[in-house]
Amino acid sequence: SKVPPIILNNGVEMPQLGFGVWQVPDDEAEQAVGTALEAGYRSIDTAAIYGNERGTGKALAASGVPRKDLFVTTKLWNSDQGYDATLRAFDESLDKLGLEYVDLYLIHWPVPARGTYIDTYKAFEKLYSDGRTRAIGVSNFLPEHLETLIEATNVIPAVNQIELHPHLQQHASREYHAEQGIATEAWSPLGQGKGLLEVPAIIAIAQKHGRTPAQIVLRWHLQLGNVVIPKSVTPSRIKENIEVFDFSLDTEDIAAISALNEDRRIGPDPATFDMV
Ligand code: NAD
Repeated sequence: SKVPPIILNNGVEMPQLGFGVWQVPDDEAEQAVGTALEAGYRSIDTAAIYGNERGTGKALAASGVPRKDLFVTTKLWNSDQGYDATLRAFDESLDKLGLEYVDLYLIHWPVPARGTYIDTYKAFEKLYSDGRTRAIGVSNFLPEHLETLIEATNVIPAVNQIELHPHLQQHASREYHAEQGIATEAWSPLGQGKGLLEVPAIIAIAQKHGRTPAQIVLRWHLQLGNVVIPKSVTPSRIKENIEVFDFSLDTEDIAAISALNEDRRIGPDPATFDMV
């Protein structure tokens, strides 16, 4: 395959680069995911709240790619937290995707004020031990939420998917994940394509390598060890974003990008985000 895997803490292989489908309408997801699969992507990142599990599932089925070569992630939405509700929501996601199992199931947000992420995760452990998901993990968990979770449950999350890009480098989380053997997966790895891809330092490195700014930012993530899931619905960009395994940044390039940290979020603060 085009994309090398990382090995999760339970031995499962996860492609280090995948395709994100947030904000892709259900009726466009089939085409976008289809284009991504043709371009060589094998990992797809969706979520119940994205409303496009059906379109995503159609593309997976139509692609002819053997199920074992795919890596499908979906996420449990906040309103479905709690043990029983989680089991029901998982069945619904699987049904929409048209799959018999997923590769990775994530708690989308901790919603700490609700106090339900531990019960939710216990349902995840059941789904995992029943073989209905090959790995379980979380998203948007701060180290304090992970500590509480790990203390109260048996399976260390395989992944924490968090907002991460050169303007928000998440040093504390990355360090904590590394200590615990949790893979760091970057959402909005391109900073949603705003501003970041016009930063002069990134443009200069792009020119030096004869690559695009998006490819440079993705390469920075990969060399740091992050899993990335860039999103695009534009076929040329979908292809461009996976053509990042035939060159490397040097230590100077990495240092110049790492100097861009501003600890600045685009998305919500996980400590307080409680949308249902
Ligand atoms: P992203 O950083 O992947 O940026 C996507 C945008 O960047 C595109 O809409 C396009 O405008 C632009 N872009 C993409 N490729 C480009 C290229 N080659 N050149 C120029 N511009 C380009 O942002 P995202 O969609 O927010 O994040 C990626 C994925 O992460 C999502 O689709 C979703 O799967 C996941 N995500 C998860 C959460 C979460 O809470 N867990 C939150 C947000 C996103």
